[in-house]
Amino acid sequence: MINEEFKKSKKVNWLTKEKRPIVIAGPCSAETEDQVIQTAVRLKEIGKSDIFRAGIWKPRTSPGSFEGVGVKGLPWLKTVKELTGFPVTVEVAKASHVELCLENQVDILWIGARTTVNPFAVQEIAEALKSVDIPVLIKNPINPDVALWIGAVERLRKSGVKELGAIHRGFSNLGETYYRNRPQWQIAIEFMRNNPDLPMLCDPSHICGRRDILQEIGQKAMDLDYDGLMIETHIDPDNAWSDAMQQVTPETFASIISGIKLKYDFEDNFRLQSKLDQLRELIDNIDDEIINLLSNRMSVSRDIGLYKKEHDMTIYQHKRWNEIIGRTCKQGEKSGLSEEFILKYISAVHDESIDQQGQVMKDGE
Ligand code: PEP
Ligand code: MN
Repeated sequence: MINEEFKKSKKVNWLTKEKRPIVIAGPCSAETEDQVIQTAVRLKEIGKSDIFRAGIWKPRTSPGSFEGVGVKGLPWLKTVKELTGFPVTVEVAKASHVELCLENQVDILWIGARTTVNPFAVQEIAEALKSVDIPVLIKNPINPDVALWIGAVERLRKSGVKELGAIHRGFSNLGETYYRNRPQWQIAIEFMRNNPDLPMLCDPSHICGRRDILQEIGQKAMDLDYDGLMIETHIDPDNAWSDAMQQVTPETFASIISGIKLKYDFEDNFRLQSKLDQLRELIDNIDDEIINLLSNRMSVSRDIGLYKKEHDMTIYQHKRWNEIIGRTCKQGEKSGLSEEFILKYISAVHDESIDQQGQVMKDGE
């Protein structure tokens, strides 16, 4: 049961009227009628999901990979609705997709990460949705740009779309190996702060790109007060035509969902606690950035150490130190930081810097 305060505070939306988490499950792609129907029927028997997803048009990185079955898959979803009663959701990337979905009684649309990134495409979809009453979920853009994500919401709102939600599916990053798409939780939190009335779902499948950490990411999302989850589920994931590594069987999906604990009960003060967790996530992120910056600073400092060594200069230079103090205190004052704090901070940084330069000098001896 969702309490009244919860409803008022945020989700007056279709998505969370009934339960939390709201769960979307189904294959990355519709492949064959059998695969779609078997997956949906099994999901229904298992009873852990609310909405059935299937990609009909697939935005793939390389041409020649499977690009979706296209319009012939839409009647399969109608059968899913008849057999299971699940509402169905499909990704749309252009106006013609929207029209075909509407003709085939798709219940919910979602806009994919590769589309959110492109304001022309989002605008085209927004126009196709004028005076149409259908919920739309908007995935974050593939690049870590919260403004594009918020902009897509605004385009749809301006077109009169009333029932909107967001899906956080992570951000692509060169060289990432642990995640397929880095979560960068702080961006989703920023989005939520900007759009407190929109339900936020997490898509662990596209964040993880693998099966073993789906639950961990789903749990983290729920701890951060997300409203739901979208998890790719396939009757035979090993042989899936797209995203095989991250898809799970309906049985594994069920155990992932069962393993996710809602830390804070609706009757409790969980919203306050989740809010605190969100803010702490932001702080942790900033601390990580500060440490990275400090590490970059030390690396420049070691280069200076080498230079001093080559030119027979002393490590500590009084004039330079005074300059640093003057600059940073002035900068601190502009940023609302006390002189006392800046002096403590910059002295600690300077000491470490001198030590690291000393190390560089010694190394060459
Ligand atoms: C998908 O959900 O199958 C999909 C293509 O996702 P994304 O837009 O997040 O890459
Ligand atoms: Mn996928």
